[in-house]
Amino acid sequence: VISGTTRVAGLIGGSTAHSLSPFIHNFLASAMGIDAVYATFDVSPEGLEMAVSGAYVLGFAGLNVTAPYKTAVIRHTTELENDAKIIQAVNLLKWEDYGFYGYNTDIYGILATLKHHGMVRLTRATILGAGGAARAGVAALANLGCRHLSLINRTKSSAQALSSLAQSRYNMETEIVTAPTSGDIFIQATSQTPLELENVLPKKYNMVFDMNYPRQNPWLGSIDAVTLDGISMLIFQAIAGFEIMWNVKVPLKIISELTISIENYLDKEN
Ligand code: NDP
Repeated sequence: VISGTTRVAGLIGGSTAHSLSPFIHNFLASAMGIDAVYATFDVSPEGLEMAVSGAYVLGFAGLNVTAPYKTAVIRHTTELENDAKIIQAVNLLKWEDYGFYGYNTDIYGILATLKHHGMVRLTRATILGAGGAARAGVAALANLGCRHLSLINRTKSSAQALSSLAQSRYNMETEIVTAPTSGDIFIQATSQTPLELENVLPKKYNMVFDMNYPRQNPWLGSIDAVTLDGISMLIFQAIAGFEIMWNVKVPLKIISELTISIENYLDKEN
């Protein structure tokens, strides 16, 4: 029940109507007995500053941030967690009495997903893409010990910027390539399915991870290797955000219940 004491949290972005975050956060609040409600807010580029300062003044416990504002929102934070500062991408603002503190829980979502599927150490990886999700991928790979990184991206200058970041901040050896090389993992971090790669990847990588999470993923399904889609990254990044926002630890039992509920919810949606 929403009452006078209910705290508010939410998601801001360019287009938030189809986000799974409200389902996840409201499920967790209810399961954990936290008096909170989570809603979505579409914000225009001109409205970003007002939206963030308004949410702060209104005492929102936290705000998740999605495309296209993960970098633009940094100007409106008071402090940043280390990796979020390095990759210049924030997907969570937590209300503190001195201002919003910025985090990047996508990094944690990738790390938890890979570890959960047995990828606890690796040395060689390829990332397709050079946007915010790819930057979080670099930070997560660094945490798992990655030393050699190949980057593929449509726009060369973005690949170059990410390559410099991986070298200078994470001590990786990097190369910019136009086709998959080989390694422990291939990460698909563009918003476009690279259909032409499905026969190439299994011969070259132990694991293929697509950050996207369409209900049906024929591309990933056709690849003969260990494959992961982005749903577990989405769930783990949301749980990390929830824990930071409310200063709690979500028990494994509730994580399992949440995962089953999401599957059911997505089945009903389709
Ligand atoms: P950005 O807009 O920051 O980056 C988009 C990337 O996709 C760029 O590398 C861009 O290349 C590339 N791209 C877009 N269209 C094309 C195309 N037609 N052909 C080739 N490359 C293309 O987005 P994000 O990095 O934030 O997100 C990328 C994907 O990851 C999204 O689909 C998003 O839904 C998903 N994601 C999933 C999450 C999860 O929890 N599972 C969390 C965050 C993101 P270029 O530089 O040339 O424009």
